[in-house]
Amino acid sequence: MVRAIVGANWGDEGKGKITDMLAEKSDIVVRFQGGANAGHTIINPYGKFALHLLPSGVCHGHVTNVIGPGVALDIEALLKELEMLEARGVPAPKLLISDRAQVLTEYHVAFDCYEEERLGKGSFGSTKSGIAPFYGDKAMKIGIQVCQMLDKNLLRKRLENAAAQKNVLLEKLYGRPALDVDALTEKYAALAERIRPMVCDTTQFLHKAVKEGKRILLEGQLGTLRDPDHGIFPFTTSSSPLAGYGAVGAGVPPTAYEEIIAVTKAYSSCVGAGPFTTELFGDEAEELRKRGGDAGEYGAKTGRPRRVGWFDAVATRYGCMVQGATDCVMTNLDVLGYLDEIKVCVAYEIEGCQTRDFPVTPLLEKATPVYVTLPGWKQDIRGVREYGALPENCRAYVEFIEKEIECPITMLSNGPKRDEIIYR
Ligand code: GDP
Repeated sequence: MVRAIVGANWGDEGKGKITDMLAEKSDIVVRFQGGANAGHTIINPYGKFALHLLPSGVCHGHVTNVIGPGVALDIEALLKELEMLEARGVPAPKLLISDRAQVLTEYHVAFDCYEEERLGKGSFGSTKSGIAPFYGDKAMKIGIQVCQMLDKNLLRKRLENAAAQKNVLLEKLYGRPALDVDALTEKYAALAERIRPMVCDTTQFLHKAVKEGKRILLEGQLGTLRDPDHGIFPFTTSSSPLAGYGAVGAGVPPTAYEEIIAVTKAYSSCVGAGPFTTELFGDEAEELRKRGGDAGEYGAKTGRPRRVGWFDAVATRYGCMVQGATDCVMTNLDVLGYLDEIKVCVAYEIEGCQTRDFPVTPLLEKATPVYVTLPGWKQDIRGVREYGALPENCRAYVEFIEKEIECPITMLSNGPKRDEIIYR
């Protein structure tokens, strides 16, 4: 039985907490795309963790964690995260790495930085983790699979092959020194040895697990609007954060899906550049940013202040639709308890016309929000465990949004901790 947890919006919706929570009732947790470029915050009895590359099931001893072939595997980042867990007293997690996953190297990170520098003010707000150059190499067939890296001669050949293209760009476009293939071969051959015990055919493993009826949780990173095809291109990421891609990037049959859980926040937040229709500015934004999340809305990866705004039902309805969501989880509901009135964006006005359909980026850039204003509940709702015990205005807010996004909100998160959850 396969379940996917994915973001309905721009990322940072609080998927880490929900995954960590549902991991308890799962046998296997799988990362299927992206790399160490985003962060999931989880808070559990071991403390607070920002995980970047490891699946969010690593704090549960009974869970097998899988890094699927669709992931950008930054081995150094992975080892650092494993060391961090050990230092914090978490027992060594069960971790399997796909032999088909490709390796994100130091030159991918370097190219990411050089390109952001070259673009200057026109940059797309990359986290400079090497993600776009990595997926570019995969598409260009000059990437390196883990299985190739485990054979030093093959690794060298693959590096030479990549360097033939990379060095032209380094010299002509960026004015930087060429790649040192010898040094790279030594470095990545050594790193490969460190992960060798974890490397296997995870696709066979997962297909067998599906047949045996194991509970498999696919963990998406970022959200719908960062999808290269369906998101706010070019302010998108380079791999698909859609549940549909989960079948590919993890290696499970698409017919095995039973649930697709889209996570959204009770307000909007977004890291990086791009149109963000319901954005708040000034004191209003600062207040929400300060109160948001578990320690304010600052990027788990970069520490950058997140842009914040009112709930955008147009973007979220689209986000849930494209994910094929069967359920929606709304997180951070507790954060809004200080507001007298709360706005919800129910349509966009573009060139004099109103629409409820999420438009292409050039039109989105011209969109202004059409708001409905709802009364706040002016109450701290942390600690509430029953839906019926929530203030009436709070339930009205949830039910209004549920109708607008056309997806059942089956869980409400009212605090960052694992047990701060209300089932409906
Ligand atoms: P992810 O990338 O989707 O996992 O999202 P992040 O973990 O980066 O961001 C979510 C933020 O919200 C983190 O700081 C979480 O600790 C926090 N968080 C999650 N759920 C809740 C909630 O219901 N209430 C509050 N106050 N914080 C939450």
